[in-house]
Amino acid sequence: MNVVNELRQLLGETAVLDANSLRERAAGIWRATEPLAGQALIRPSTTEEVSKALVWCAERGLKVVTQGGLTGLVHGADTDPDCIVLSLERMNAIESIDASQRCAVVQAGVTLQTLQEAAAPHGLMFPLDLGARGSATLGGNAATNAGGNRVIRYGMMRDMVLGAEAVLADGTVINSLSPLIKNNAGYDLKHLFVGSEGTLGVVTRLSLRLREAPVSRDMAFVALDSFDHVKALLRHMDQQLGGGLSAFETLWSDTTNW
Ligand SMILES: Cc1cc2nc3c(=O)[nH]c(=O)nc-3n(C[C@H](O)[C@H](O)[C@H](O)COP(=O)(O)OP(=O)(O)OC[C@H]3O[C@@H](n4cnc5c(N)ncnc54)[C@H](O)[C@@H]3O)c2cc1C
Repeated sequence: MNVVNELRQLLGETAVLDANSLRERAAGIWRATEPLAGQALIRPSTTEEVSKALVWCAERGLKVVTQGGLTGLVHGADTDPDCIVLSLERMNAIESIDASQRCAVVQAGVTLQTLQEAAAPHGLMFPLDLGARGSATLGGNAATNAGGNRVIRYGMMRDMVLGAEAVLADGTVINSLSPLIKNNAGYDLKHLFVGSEGTLGVVTRLSLRLREAPVSRDMAFVALDSFDHVKALLRHMDQQLGGGLSAFETLWSDTTNW
């Protein structure tokens, strides 16, 4: 079986990289000096192509590793020479931003920063934020249930996902792309895929909840002499700000070394 040729017939020439081309890519954030391993890397550009590729791999018993921006910190996207790497890099369109519904529909390969920047002109924000924003994809954020630095106010990625479309290993497309916040219609399948690290299927599209951008922002740097005071300050600030505290980080004295 010539894996690369067969996959190219299925998905098109440019959608498939061979093992040599893979070696020109880094294996991930912790393995940046190592080349990416795999029999082939596929770059589908539609949900239908993801489905076709997974059917083809399942029929041949080939394992598939899904990759977004490769910024994950727990080796969930690590590959080996036998696997097929499935990258979402060509599924990178923001399909819609509905300002009145405060919802965005995106393909899974859109980076976090791209959505943050696209929401801003609407007076809206996508509240997830983390240092890897320029490379991490929204599909990867969902697959890892990312938290980030505003979790205290807006919650984890799970709290921002209104709906998801995902493709199972047998090619079945699960469509649960509701744009509704208040949605109690039956089983909520999207939650199965949030935090699943790619084990249950490939997330291909997401509907995401946007929030009103804050009109002002204040920051304080406070020195405290015990952890009990840290906890008391957190409670006090959130109470006094009416639940509006968005981020709270603690630095230990040995971190700052002052
Ligand atoms: C500088 C830095 C700061 C960070 N800060 C935080 C932080 O504050 N809070 C926090 O929670 N995390 C943080 N992270 C980790 C962050 O959660 C991940 O970087 C990010 O969510 C992963 O997105 P990715 O597109 O890079 O996914 P990848 O690294 O490519 O993949 C991560 C996992 O998701 C799976 N996956 C990727 N895309 C899909 C998809 N479309 N469908 C199904 N599975 C998929 C992969 O198989 C793998 O298991 C940080 C990372 C860095 C490098």
